[in-house]
Amino acid sequence: MDYKYLNNMLAEMDKDLSEKGMSRRDAMKLAGISGAGLFMGASNVQAMEKDQLPLKKSGVDAKIVIVGGGLAGISTAKRLTNFIENPDITIIEPEKLSASYQPGQTLVGAGIWDIDDIKENREDYVPDGVKLIPEKVIDFDPTNNQVTTDKGQVVSYDYLVVATGIQHDYERLEGLEEAGRAYSTGDNTRLHKAMGDDTGLCSIWTAEGSAKTWDVMQEYIEKAKNVKEGEEKIKFLFTHPATPIKCGGAPKKIMYLTNSRLKEAGAREGAELHFYPNGGAMFGVPEYHDAIMEQFKREDFKWHFRHNLVRVDKERKIATFDAKWQEKGPYDPIMRDFEVYSKHERKEVPYDFLHITPDAVAPREVAESDLGGASGFVPVNKETLQHVKYMNVFAVGDVASVPMAKTGGSVRKQYKVLVDNIVSQMEGKKLEAKYAGYTVCPLITSIGTVMLAEFDWTVKPTPLVPLDPTVERWIWWLMKVYALKPMTMIGMMKLGQA
Ligand SMILES: Cc1cc2nc3c(=O)[nH]c(=O)nc-3n(C[C@H](O)[C@H](O)[C@H](O)COP(=O)(O)OP(=O)(O)OC[C@H]3O[C@@H](n4cnc5c(N)ncnc54)[C@H](O)[C@@H]3O)c2cc1C
Repeated sequence: MDYKYLNNMLAEMDKDLSEKGMSRRDAMKLAGISGAGLFMGASNVQAMEKDQLPLKKSGVDAKIVIVGGGLAGISTAKRLTNFIENPDITIIEPEKLSASYQPGQTLVGAGIWDIDDIKENREDYVPDGVKLIPEKVIDFDPTNNQVTTDKGQVVSYDYLVVATGIQHDYERLEGLEEAGRAYSTGDNTRLHKAMGDDTGLCSIWTAEGSAKTWDVMQEYIEKAKNVKEGEEKIKFLFTHPATPIKCGGAPKKIMYLTNSRLKEAGAREGAELHFYPNGGAMFGVPEYHDAIMEQFKREDFKWHFRHNLVRVDKERKIATFDAKWQEKGPYDPIMRDFEVYSKHERKEVPYDFLHITPDAVAPREVAESDLGGASGFVPVNKETLQHVKYMNVFAVGDVASVPMAKTGGSVRKQYKVLVDNIVSQMEGKKLEAKYAGYTVCPLITSIGTVMLAEFDWTVKPTPLVPLDPTVERWIWWLMKVYALKPMTMIGMMKLGQA
C-alpha cells in the first residue's frame, strides 16, 4: 500500500461525499475531527513522517526480538526505530501476508471489498534496518533469553516482545475436528476443506474464508428471494463463542451486512436472521447493549442469549448449542432467599446458512511455554504491558492477557505505551507510560451506517468526538470504509505514529 493508494481511497470518499453535497472539510467538522487526523491526504502523511519524531532518540544498545509480524509487531518495530538511535531489532514471522488488513475481512465477507483490498505483503512493511526471520517460533525459553524457530535457529535477545496474535480454534467444534486451528492469514486449506462446499457454512475469520462467505451469502440470498408465501423462510444463523475474540462486534457486523444485502436484493421477506451468542448481553457496555437491542428489534432479528455452538452436522444442517439458563430452587431459611441452580442442555437448531465465529485461543507454543498464563495468553501488567514474571518481556495486541477488546483500536494505544516502557526499562528508568484501556469498535449496522462504540476500563462510552456514540452515522461508515485502512497501514505500520 502506497501513497497513491491513499489518494485513490480519498478520491473515492470524496465522490461519496459529493453525492451528499459535502466537502471533506465539512465531513471532518461533522465528525468533530480536526487537522490531518483520520482523513489526511498523502501530503499530510509525508509531513507527519517528519514532524512527529522524538526530539532526541535514545542511545540504548540492546537486542530486541519481536515474535509476530502482524499489526502489533510491525507497528512496534517501526516505532522503536523512531525512538532508538541505533536499533537492533529482529522480527520473526512466518507468513508472507502477515501485514494484511484483518478488519477488512468483514467488508470482504459482504462483497463490499475484494480480497485483494486486504492482502498486504510482510516485506513491504518491515521497517528499514529491521531484520526479518521468516520462520515460526516453536519454543520460548525466557530463563535463558532465547527462542527457537521451526527451522532450528536459536535466537537470543535482551528484550522480547510477544506479538503472535491469536489462533481461531475451529477444531474444538464437533463435526469440524478436521479443520484444525487457523490464523487469519496463511494457508488455511485444511479449514476450508473441513467446512466443505454446498454446506451453507462460512466464517469471515480467515482472509480466504471471508471471500467464501460472500459466495455463500449470495447463494442463500438467491434462495431467500425464491421463497413463496407460506413456504418456510431461509434460516441465517450467526454465532458468538465463549472466549474473548478479535473485534467482538464482527459476528454482529456480518449479520447486519447480510441483512442489508437481503434487503437490497428484495429477499428480506424470505429470510429469518438469528443471533446465537454465548453471553447474556449484546455488548459489555450497557449503553451500547441497549442501542443494539433497539436495532435488533427494528430489523426484526431474533436473538438467543447463552447459546454456545458446540457441534455442526454438515449433512443434516443442524447446529447444536450448549444452552444455559438458571432455575429457582427451594427456599433457604438460613440465607433467607431461594437457591438458584445453573442448568444447561444441548439444543439442536436447523439452519440453511451458518456463519461461525470460532473460539480465539493463544497459539499453542505461547500457551504451553513459561510465558503463557492460565488462559494461555501472556500475563502482563495491564497498564505497562510488561510480563508479570519476566521483566525483559513485553506483550502487545491480541496475545496479551489484557482485559480489553482484542482490536486494532487497542493495538493503536498499546504499542506506543510498550515502546515508551521498553525504552525506559532499558534506560533503567521507572515505567511511566500506561495503557488506559481505550478501545473502539466501529459497529457496522447496515451498508452505509456505523455506530462507533468507544469505551475503556470504566465500561462507559468514551467518545473521542462530542457526538452521541449510540447513534448510527454515515460519517463513521465513510471512516470505516475509506480512512481506517490508511490510518492503520500507513499511520501505524509504515510510520509508527498514528
Ligand atoms: C474479521 C475481523 C474483523 C476485525 N475487525 C476489526 C475492527 O473493525 N476494528 C479493529 O480495530 N480491529 C478489528 N479486528 C482485529 C484486529 O485486526 C486485530 O486485533 C489485530 O490484527 C491484532 O494485531 P496482532 O498483531 O496482535 O495480531 P495479528 O495481526 O493477527 O498478527 C499476529 C502475527 O503473529 C504471527 N505468529 C503467530 N504465532 C507465531 C509464532 N509462533 N512465531 C512467529 N510468528 C507468529 C502470525 O503469523 C501473525 O502474522 C478484526 C479482526 C478480524 C479477523
